Amino acid sequence: MLCLTLAKKTIEEDIADFWKNRAYIGIAEIRLDALDFKELEKVSSLTNQVDLPLILTCRRKADGGFWMGTEKKRIQILKQILELGDFSYIDIESDVKRPEFEAFIKSKSIQIIRSFHDFEGVPLDLYSKISKLASKGDIPKIAVTPKTVYDLILIFKVESELASIKEKIIIGMGPMGVCTRILYKKVGSMLCYCSDDDMNLGLLSPRILSELYRADRVNAKTHIYGVIGNPVLQSVSPQIHNPGFHAIRFNAIYVPFLVDNVRAFFHLAEVIQIFGFSVTIPHKIDVLPYLGKSTREVRLIGSCNTVVRKMNLWKGINTDYYGFINPLLPYFDSEQIHEAVVIGAGGASRAVIWALKNRGVKITILNRTVEKAKALALETMSNYDSLENADKYSGRSDLIVQTTPLGMGEKVDFDPAPKLKFLGTEIVYDLIYKPHLTKFLERANDSGCTLCYGIDMLVEQGKLQFEEFTGYHYPSINIVF
Ligand code: NAP
Repeated sequence: MLCLTLAKKTIEEDIADFWKNRAYIGIAEIRLDALDFKELEKVSSLTNQVDLPLILTCRRKADGGFWMGTEKKRIQILKQILELGDFSYIDIESDVKRPEFEAFIKSKSIQIIRSFHDFEGVPLDLYSKISKLASKGDIPKIAVTPKTVYDLILIFKVESELASIKEKIIIGMGPMGVCTRILYKKVGSMLCYCSDDDMNLGLLSPRILSELYRADRVNAKTHIYGVIGNPVLQSVSPQIHNPGFHAIRFNAIYVPFLVDNVRAFFHLAEVIQIFGFSVTIPHKIDVLPYLGKSTREVRLIGSCNTVVRKMNLWKGINTDYYGFINPLLPYFDSEQIHEAVVIGAGGASRAVIWALKNRGVKITILNRTVEKAKALALETMSNYDSLENADKYSGRSDLIVQTTPLGMGEKVDFDPAPKLKFLGTEIVYDLIYKPHLTKFLERANDSGCTLCYGIDMLVEQGKLQFEEFTGYHYPSINIVF
């Protein structure tokens, strides 16, 4: 079940938060430490205004909370609130030793969640820590901070190592822990905490966990897919694959994995039986040594953005190649493309150049670092020049492809080749998908050019990945980004 953390300053706001998310959750946790002090006396009234089991928590600052008062006062307030309100669970940290208080809790038939936090890493004695927390019949809860894929492996093995402890709460905190929270059922956790205020780009909001990931429907038969990268949490690929799986009634989930080490990830992929994954920056080349099979495009381009389990091997595919070229096919059919200028000579540019070259297009590569343009030009028998000389190529091509990150993120207002003029007859393609209309495309549009958008390539390469993952065409649904 999903557990909504209620951590507003007032009870009124907590109640509003509860009802806003009521459809997605099975339980809620009220965090006393987040409330304004004068609100504490109203906490018991909250229990009458919600209709799900509640966890009572007052988290100390040292454990990641806001409570700054004395320990004596904290226990006193918890006791007062338990006397008046109706709670199913109370969260008490592992080092709290108050036999009288614990006896009082048990006399009220409230279950103790015995919690341990580590904000620095994952302790190597993780399994013995959990066993100790569970030894008095309490529900053990560990919230740890994975920093490497090896830490993730420790967390994902909790369920097989400690299957006899049926009720437990296991949380991977921080950006690397996101996959353990979406896959909380695989970790063996009885619940996943979630909140609208989550800092990880809303990845763990109740609505996203419930509607996009369908995290609480994961079971032993669910096929796991994902995307590996660093960074990766901003990836929009989960918004392509998860709704697609759902539409074809395929019991599968697609999860972002923040990966520092590709070798370790292939190990993790065995531990939790990952069936396939997308690969993004910076791992598109690093995965190559682990592939038992690869397509001609992967070998040509020297990079791989899709890995699928085929029999006992990992097969590498490059869907960027077709994802890029497919939106251009109508223009090839009408013989509109003979010469192209490609701006940039990085990873994405390699897929673009090989796809164009294999269609017989004459290519000029323009790049900031001219040596890189030269190396790629030699490999692909193209022309090359410095990006500074872009004005020389005005009006000399049918297609202009922009493959640098200039025009997105912090560089959203940049135009990579302001001196390159458009006649209006060219097809102009920008690989950037956010924003939809970059400064470069805006200028091309003003000149009357035909536009191709990065989002079309993104969706196309994602649909091709979906086919590799499932064996089915992508369903005809609206993809919402
Ligand atoms: P990359 O390997 O890092 O290559 C970046 C390229 O941009 C290099 O040629 C680099 O030139 C150039 N560049 C970077 N900063 C520059 C600057 N300030 N001025 C001039 N040139 C600059 O990156 P990539 O993997 O090819 O990705 C590039 C873009 O393609 C990204 O925006 C990515 O989001 C997009 N992309 C989109 C899709 C899609 O499906 N739509 C798929 C893949 C990639 P130097 O050689 O001089 O460093």
